[in-house]
Parts: sequence; C-alpha cells; structure tokens
Amino acid sequence: MPGGRTESEFASEIPKLLDAQCGYCGRSIGMDRIGPVIEFSRDRVGSNWESFLHATYLCPREACFRPSIAFFRLGHSAGGYHHLKGEPVLIPRGQAQKMEGLSSAIETDRLEAWSCYYGGDYRAAIIMGRAAIQRAVRLLEAEGAGLKAEINDLAQRRKITEALRDAAHEVRISGDDAAHPEDLELVSSDEAKESLEFMDDFLAHAIAMPTRADARKQARKPPPE
Ligand SMILES: [Zn+2]
Repeated sequence: MPGGRTESEFASEIPKLLDAQCGYCGRSIGMDRIGPVIEFSRDRVGSNWESFLHATYLCPREACFRPSIAFFRLGHSAGGYHHLKGEPVLIPRGQAQKMEGLSSAIETDRLEAWSCYYGGDYRAAIIMGRAAIQRAVRLLEAEGAGLKAEINDLAQRRKITEALRDAAHEVRISGDDAAHPEDLELVSSDEAKESLEFMDDFLAHAIAMPTRADARKQARKPPPE
C-alpha cells in the first residue's frame, strides 16, 4: 500500500480530541486533531490485518500551542469490524510533571520511567519504576537483604504506612517480573501505568511530602540571634 497523503478511509476511527500527555509542556490535556489521518502502512496478522496511522494534534494551552504526531494501530477483522490496539504513541513523547521534594537521582529515575511509558516501552517503564523505589527505600535508610526485606523493614519500624508498603511491593513485584528473561510476556500499557501510579503514590507520600514539610518548618524558624 503506498503511503498516500489523502485522508484515510478509517479516519473516523481516530479521535478528534485526544487525551494525552503533551511532550512539550508536560500537561495531561485534550489535544485537537489538526490535520488529516494518514494510513502509512498495513500488515497481515493471521487471517486479519492491521493498519498503522498517524495524525497531528495540537496542545491547546496558550503557553504551549505546539503540535505532536500521534501514531495509532487499528485492527481489522472479518465483517468490517475495526478496533484501536493499545495506546497511541506521541512524538515528541509525553513527559511527566515534576514532583517537588524528591532528590534529583530519584526524580531522574521517575521521569525516565514515565518517559518510557509515554514512548510505549512498557517493560522498561516498569523496571525504571522499580529502580526509583529502590533508591527511595535506601534514602529512608531501610535495612535488610534485598528490596522486599527493605520495604518490610520500613513498615515494621513505622517509617511508612501499610498502604505505602503495599504500593512499594506492587512496583517491586511487577519490576521483578518485567526483568525476568524466562517469562518475557508482553506488558500492557495498563499494567505499566498502574505500576507507575503506585510508584508515584509511594514517592509522593514517603519522600516528597515529608521533605516539603521539613522545608516549610525550616523556613518558619526564627533566624539565630
Ligand atoms: Zn503542551
């Protein structure tokens, strides 16, 4: 199929308003489709086939107002039935908003985890999320052999709540699964997103909020005489 420049016959399957994470300003926002939907490739998948499409979307924020290209996979099956497969991937890929109160090393791991997610690299996203948790747990001076024991140690010493312990374990377990070469199952976008949301919950409550509270306390202290 030649890559034509006319609107694809499947354009109606592609959203006019796309909820996405802008790669320029980092906001989660509804972006408007501003150009035609182009089908640039087709593949046969068993007895069915799928097409690859792209379209241009505009971030509506006045301070941003820049275009991104979104790529979609559309599955076709017998009977003229179509369905979108997975999440669209944007160029530039989305970036997460910064979380105030994290050390730069933890924030770097966290942002890389989200960057992998928005780029469609779901296993890498989960593994980077685990790395961020590992770093955070060490910062909290956890003791024990291995991440599992370290997380439990923090909960036992009441440095983290049980809910945060469970969130950290979720990230640890999915990270271990994703890193194991023997069960290289495909990780879905939903699984990766869930794991990174647990990561953000943990980092926000165990690290970022206490750090910001300390900073406020320091700021309120009267200067030494
Ligand atoms: Zn933007």
